[in-house]
Amino acid sequence: MRNPSSYRIGLTYDDVLLVPKYSEVRSRKEVSTETKFSRRIKLNIPIVSANMDTVTESTMAIAIARLGGIGVIHRFLTIEEQVEEVSKVKRSESIMIDEPITLFEDSTVGDAKELLEKYNIGGIVIVNREKKVTGIVTRRDISLEEDEEKKITEVMTPKSKLIYATKGVTLEEAKEVLKKNKIEKLPVLDEKGRLIGLITRKDMDKMRQFPLAAKDSKGRLRVAAAIGVKGDYMERASKLLDADVDALVVDIAHGHSIHAIETVKRLKKEFGDIEVVAGNVATAEGTVDLIKAGADAVKVGVGSGSICVTRVVTGFGVPQLTAIIDSASAASEYGIPIIADGGIRNPGDVTKALAAGASSVMIGSLFAGTEESPGPTVLRKGLRYKLTRGMASLAATIDRRLREKKENSVRDVELIEEIVQESVPEGVEGLIPYKGKVEEVVRQLVGGLRSGMSYCGARNIDELRKNAEFIRITEAGYKESLPHDIESVV
Ligand code: 5GP
Repeated sequence: MRNPSSYRIGLTYDDVLLVPKYSEVRSRKEVSTETKFSRRIKLNIPIVSANMDTVTESTMAIAIARLGGIGVIHRFLTIEEQVEEVSKVKRSESIMIDEPITLFEDSTVGDAKELLEKYNIGGIVIVNREKKVTGIVTRRDISLEEDEEKKITEVMTPKSKLIYATKGVTLEEAKEVLKKNKIEKLPVLDEKGRLIGLITRKDMDKMRQFPLAAKDSKGRLRVAAAIGVKGDYMERASKLLDADVDALVVDIAHGHSIHAIETVKRLKKEFGDIEVVAGNVATAEGTVDLIKAGADAVKVGVGSGSICVTRVVTGFGVPQLTAIIDSASAASEYGIPIIADGGIRNPGDVTKALAAGASSVMIGSLFAGTEESPGPTVLRKGLRYKLTRGMASLAATIDRRLREKKENSVRDVELIEEIVQESVPEGVEGLIPYKGKVEEVVRQLVGGLRSGMSYCGARNIDELRKNAEFIRITEAGYKESLPHDIESVV
């Protein structure tokens, strides 16, 4: 990648274009969008959903991981709530469910109905006290059963008639058995008849439906979770790791700080070789310091977010393209990926961020308007919107402090007054037009990237970086880039 200018000036996405290059790529389908989120986590698309309370909880994280990216669950939840969000992603699909939900033989139809509803599952394996499988009960067996007190053993399919697999069964063999016997669930038993897992048709269907899904070694969807640098963060980290979170994201506004560096070091020391992402920084120095502390990926972007007013309020920040170029060239010496966080408005921005050296882009507000983001849609003048807000906005700060408040320690109104008086918000809130499913937004982003890669003669993201040549444009050039001299009909 060639330097866009020889003097120090900060540039961002709209200041540049990529110069078309000779290409032998015949179709957008030929290019690979495979990349890295962090040192050891591979993604199939370079898309990360932001750890904001109006963007990523489990529903968004599941949708993004199915498409090949990863979601970062925000930290403005209690530890238990955040862990539950991670667990929902981890439980959503797998090659084999490790610890399937079971019931003992002395349970009733009512117990089974309750569990099926609670976990939204289709069947439950019945075991005895030695964990040996004695049968299976499915929704079909009990949906019409009115006697809730009836013993489960009277309605279940007993072991003698049960179709099951034994330890070591391959995915292909399991698929064959499910298909041949037209069943939904295949319990896997060890040599003593004890339950070791459950393979389901639902998971197999999802594998077919989402071939690019980002998964861990057990076939479960990938998910990351954000933590802070103060208060309960070590306990939070420990519980998130117990829930098998794939990466912890140490996320503070000024990541080039002793707080962030010490936190990364402490996490690595306490929990060993876990995957830690750290940020946010906007310089080569900040990137190197976090890498030296042990970061497995560095999040870049200070003041670049759409809901962010850090630059206006503090006077600090680096235009995002320059921040990426500086940080990525420093990180490449260490083989550590950069996540370009904030400011993505158009699909072309994704291509520019990757061409500048980022390995993935983190997206906030662009996803806040989708079906999968937390919170309801609101109607205004007949149009549908969703809310988006900076995590350092006044509203987010008030919500957070009210939640953290000790019971009855102070009246809500007094606390709110106190926050309003002391706070200097670095974020804003606003409405964003409702955009439907996130899959469609991702399809546009990745489609734009694939086209962009073909304009660059690049078959993969490495080649995009190597071939890319930025050209700085003027305001007239920018105007020319947008639709012009026509009356827009949409
Ligand atoms: P977006 O995709 O909306 O342009 O940017 C999302 C990013 O903005 C987030 O990932 C985060 O780094 C940043 N961000 C979120 N809330 C705030 C805030 O209140 N203040 C600042 N300065 N940045 C924020």
